[in-house]
Amino acid sequence: MASTATLASLSDTTLVWQVLGLFVFTIHDASSWSWWHYIVWAAVIVFAMDLLARIVLGVGNALGLGENGRAIKDSAKRLEQLDDTDFLYIGINKLLTALFTYHVIAYAWHSGHVVWALDALTLANSLAALVALYVIYDLGYCLFHRALHWPPLYPLVHKHHHKQHSPFRGNVDAINVHPFEFVVGEYNHLFAIHAVSLALRRLGLGSGVHLGAVAVFIIMGGVLASLNHTRFDVRAPLVPGVFQVRYHDIHHARNVRRNYSQYTMLWDVVFGTFLAYDESAATLGSSGSSENLAAERGSSTDLPHKSE
Ligand SMILES: [Zn+2]
Ligand SMILES: [Zn+2]
Repeated sequence: MASTATLASLSDTTLVWQVLGLFVFTIHDASSWSWWHYIVWAAVIVFAMDLLARIVLGVGNALGLGENGRAIKDSAKRLEQLDDTDFLYIGINKLLTALFTYHVIAYAWHSGHVVWALDALTLANSLAALVALYVIYDLGYCLFHRALHWPPLYPLVHKHHHKQHSPFRGNVDAINVHPFEFVVGEYNHLFAIHAVSLALRRLGLGSGVHLGAVAVFIIMGGVLASLNHTRFDVRAPLVPGVFQVRYHDIHHARNVRRNYSQYTMLWDVVFGTFLAYDESAATLGSSGSSENLAAERGSSTDLPHKSE
C-alpha cells in the first residue's frame, strides 16, 4: 500500500518526522475509524483552534496592541452581542474546520503532491511555494468575496459576516460567517496547494509543495484571518502594502466594496479595489466613505452604525 511505503520512506529521517508520520498514518483513513475517533478528532481540532485563537489575542495584548495600546480606532459601532445564529454558524464552522483539517492531512498523505522528506526541502518548494500559495489563494478568495457582495446574492450568504462593523474578537469574528462561505474559503487553501504543486511540477522544480510550507500556510492562514478581525494594528514589515489588519477593517467599517482579499492586497491593487487606510477617517462618528452608502444597494441595514 502506498501509505505503508510512504511511512517506510520516512524511517530514515528524523525522529520528529517519524512520530509525525505515525500520527498521520493512524488518522489518514477515516473509513477505518470507530465512532469515537470522529469525536476525538473534532475535539482535538476545535481545542487546537481555540488555543491558537487565544494565543493570537494573548500575544497581541501582551505586545501592547490591545485596547489600551496601539489599537486600530473603531470607525463604526461594534456588534457586541452575538445571537443564536452567530453561535450556530460559529459551531458549525468549527466542526467544518475538523473536516477540512482531515482532508488537508489526507491530501498530503495520499496525493503525491506534497513532499515529506526533510532532505528534499528546497527554496522552491518551501519559501517560494509559500508566497505563491498566498497569492493563488487570494486570487480565488478576492473574486469569490467580490461575488458574495453581488446584491442579489449578498443577503443570502455574506450579509451575516457584515453584521460586525468593527471586528474585535479575532477568530470568533473571523469564522462568524455563513457555513457555505466558510467551506469555500477553507477548501480554497487545498485548491491553492494543488495549483502551486502543479506549477512546481510544470517548472521542473520537484514533485510538489513541501509539507512544511503546507503546515505554515494553513496555520499562518488561521493566524492572519484571526488578526484581520482584531483591533491589533499589525502591519507586515518590509513590504508595507502586503498585509495590514487595517485593510480588512476598511472593508468592514468604511467601504465594503474595497479590500476583498484576506492575506495580501495584491489582487485588490490589480483589480482596482484597493483602498489605503486614511487615519483622518478613523474616528467613530466620522462620515466615513459615502461610497459605502451606495455600495450595498437594498441592504441599508448593513451599513456601519455610526455612534450617536
Ligand atoms: Zn471579515
Ligand atoms: Zn465582505
